[in-house]
Amino acid sequence: MINLRNVRKFYGALEVIKGVDITVEDGEFAVFVGPSGCGKSTLLRMIAGLEGIDEGDLVLDGKRINDVPPDKRGIAMVFQSYALYPHMTVAENIGFSLSLKKVPEAEIRRQVEGVAEILQLTDYLDRRPAALSGGQRQRVAIGRAIIKKPSLILFDEPLSNLDSALRVQMRAELQRLHRELKATVVYVTHDQVEAMTMADRIVVLNKGLVAQEGAPMSLYHQPQNEFVATFIGSPK
Ligand code: ADP
Ligand code: MG
Repeated sequence: MINLRNVRKFYGALEVIKGVDITVEDGEFAVFVGPSGCGKSTLLRMIAGLEGIDEGDLVLDGKRINDVPPDKRGIAMVFQSYALYPHMTVAENIGFSLSLKKVPEAEIRRQVEGVAEILQLTDYLDRRPAALSGGQRQRVAIGRAIIKKPSLILFDEPLSNLDSALRVQMRAELQRLHRELKATVVYVTHDQVEAMTMADRIVVLNKGLVAQEGAPMSLYHQPQNEFVATFIGSPK
């Protein structure tokens, strides 16, 4: 479904992605995990089209998309800091991209209600973001992303601003969402526990390189190098 082939990225003279090969299969929940600064956000931003790729190929469903603009990729991205529009209701926030596309009001309402049901926001559609909890706001941000029916959803540390109890609850919700939407997910985190509990496949990154990839248990039991053994084996 999505392939990165020998992908490199430089910021000036600094090489931050150093020749990365990654495949994520259709429908998978893939987690890219690694310490701060290893290049996770840069990789996601390249997949989304928010950063250019200096070398290598980005292939989506067999088609090279290096030069396809972000809004033509069918990819949605949910960020860690999810700026909602404060003056709009939950329903207006979720439906915003459809109203930009001049979709009729009744159709927007129908789609917003469908998304709200999946995200358990049905009772909050008329509220403004200030009247929501952190977890509810995060769900609105996810709603904004999924209403466009992306085939691939990218999450960049979406739970790191939430307290730990809510983080545990949201992990389960995101997994349920993944099952219901049948979308492919690439989820970035620096949190090993999050990676181990959520992923079908984990890609461990270190200093702009793939340290190892595989199913969570295979990384845990057969780490191929000391970095993976230490990083996966010693949760915080
Ligand atoms: P992560 O998300 O894993 O914490 P990033 O992808 O944000 O890592 O960053 C990878 C490396 O690239 C870091 O060394 C970071 O300082 C550097 N970097 C990220 N964005 C920029 C930028 N716009 N200009 C220069 N260096 C950057
Ligand atoms: Mg980051």
